[in-house]
Amino acid sequence: MKVWVLASGSTANSLVIEAAGERLLVDCGLGPRTLAGKLRAVGIPPESVGGVAVTHEHSDHIHGLKKACAKWRWPVLASTGTHAALGAKGVRGSAGGGARRIVLVNGQTVSHGALDVMGVRIQHDASEPMAFVVTCRASGARVAVATDIGELSASVLAAFARTDAIVLESNHDLQMLASGPYPPYLKQRIAARTGHLSNADCGSALEALAHRGLSHIVLAHLSEVNNTPEMARASAARALRKAGWRGKLAIAAPDGLTSGFEVGSSSMVERQLGLAI
Ligand SMILES: [Zn+2]
Ligand SMILES: [Zn+2]
Repeated sequence: MKVWVLASGSTANSLVIEAAGERLLVDCGLGPRTLAGKLRAVGIPPESVGGVAVTHEHSDHIHGLKKACAKWRWPVLASTGTHAALGAKGVRGSAGGGARRIVLVNGQTVSHGALDVMGVRIQHDASEPMAFVVTCRASGARVAVATDIGELSASVLAAFARTDAIVLESNHDLQMLASGPYPPYLKQRIAARTGHLSNADCGSALEALAHRGLSHIVLAHLSEVNNTPEMARASAARALRKAGWRGKLAIAAPDGLTSGFEVGSSSMVERQLGLAI
């Protein structure tokens, strides 16, 4: 399984997962031309993408969705609430393009080509937003993706346990947010349980999720106003050191990661070797 983060942050979000010949986009915050250029740059023709899973309807996650779905006939995988919100915004997977709507139900897995996609209900100020756990059925490799998440509930932590890679929001430093230029209502909204994940909360979650099979962690959706890549990295690294974790920790810049990363299946290797995890 391979993952490329194409864009990350308050302007645009999109990543692509490839495994066993299947390609799945997660969120479509980039316009079709930029998206196509970024996909081709990593060797993926946009028409080879088999669908797009949408976390929620905020514009930084769906800006290019309508045109991309019409152009490439991608089915849209999302919760009932997200589908309804997309419909209200005039973005319909099926609007004239023949693309399908695939409904994700919290905690249930949908088979999509060679991939299994599980939607996990998360806390955020949107219509039934979701995180995703995507598994390659052939290799068993699993990646979890959660951006725009106010907190990681016990059910999200359970769903994210034993994944091989995690892309997780590390949105803001609490101190920078508190003393920063945003108006009070916006500060409250960001810091709320339905807002965005702070560096400190991201670190706590990663400490709980760290296990030796977790090979890659990508910190995503960093605020350009209330955070710095150095602070996000330091906070996560501190928490992960406490957990004794050794793996690759990367920061997704607004224009994504410069290179994709390869995710193997730790659980399958360890099962084959008869090792307890
Ligand atoms: Zn966002
Ligand atoms: Zn959002």
